[in-house]
Amino acid sequence: MRWENLTVDSEHSRADAALFGAETVTTRTFDTPEFRGITFHEIRARSIINRVPGASRMPFEWTVNPYRGCTHACVYCFARRTHSYLDLDTGHGFDSQIVVKVNAPELLRRQLASRRWHGDHIAMGTNVDCYQRAEGRYRLMPGILAALRDHANPFSILTKGTLILRDLELLRRAAEVTDVGVSVSVGFTDETLWRTVEPGTPAPERRLDVVRTLARHGIGCGVLMAPVIPFLSDRPEQLRSTVRAIAASGATSVTPLVLHLRPGAREWFMAWLSRHHPYLVGRYERLYADGAYAPRWYQRRITRQVHELAQEYGIGPARPGLPRRTPAAAPAPPGTAEPTQLTLL
Ligand code: SF4
Repeated sequence: MRWENLTVDSEHSRADAALFGAETVTTRTFDTPEFRGITFHEIRARSIINRVPGASRMPFEWTVNPYRGCTHACVYCFARRTHSYLDLDTGHGFDSQIVVKVNAPELLRRQLASRRWHGDHIAMGTNVDCYQRAEGRYRLMPGILAALRDHANPFSILTKGTLILRDLELLRRAAEVTDVGVSVSVGFTDETLWRTVEPGTPAPERRLDVVRTLARHGIGCGVLMAPVIPFLSDRPEQLRSTVRAIAASGATSVTPLVLHLRPGAREWFMAWLSRHHPYLVGRYERLYADGAYAPRWYQRRITRQVHELAQEYGIGPARPGLPRRTPAAAPAPPGTAEPTQLTLL
């Protein structure tokens, strides 16, 4: 492990100035294989409960995000643009320059205790994944969950990380005193596609194991089927095998979301597409000619297909025999999410 307190001539000083003002930033690198090539910027945040801009259009108003940047490295991740606000690179930099709010648990506990806080629902995993690999080392989520449990504050988590199972007992305890919603994101089950487009994430099957385990322990878990990637994961047989696998995991619900490509993510994704599937570049330019979202007719078609399959395989909150704790906060409908606040985890 190496660490240093940054000085003005550090290669990261521009980013530090952009993000952290006068606060001390410590950078660390770890020589273990899982963290090779990754730089962590540890900061002491001033605030940890964030209000969602444009919250009236979102299914939640408050978020907690202990990290910025995400080693899960999904090519399409639209939180990429948020790295540019820190003067950090939105491509590989987003995957490898991770900001860690090391005081997140204590700060959250303090803010939850404040008389100005009224106990509203808090959504996590809505910007970047709170159970990304860094969490294995920094262990911020146990303190965060304990604070939420102690204040009986309702919350939801959206993740691709299997690490959430480490905190199963805390989730169970929290669910005894407040509303807890968990969603896992699995857009497709195609292994080849997964390896190239979500290279830092646990395999889709492992994520479905998380759903299975949570269900077995009484925590109902929905699946955000996101993103459905046009021409790469949207063939009828692909949708079918994904929904079938989701159903077999015991998910309480499935919510499809078609890929969207906002600035920041769009450039990175299109560069990836031209390397891996160059024959699709023209089709994408036409499909996304009007902006970040695929046309409504396409979104409706995917939604209808997935809902029909879900019905066929019996997924849904009314399915007998499944835990009925609280459903996770539903993702915002396509076209309404603020780019800095909801990612396709
Ligand atoms: S989509 Fe989610 S899991 Fe993937 S890189 Fe972005 S924040 Fe991380």
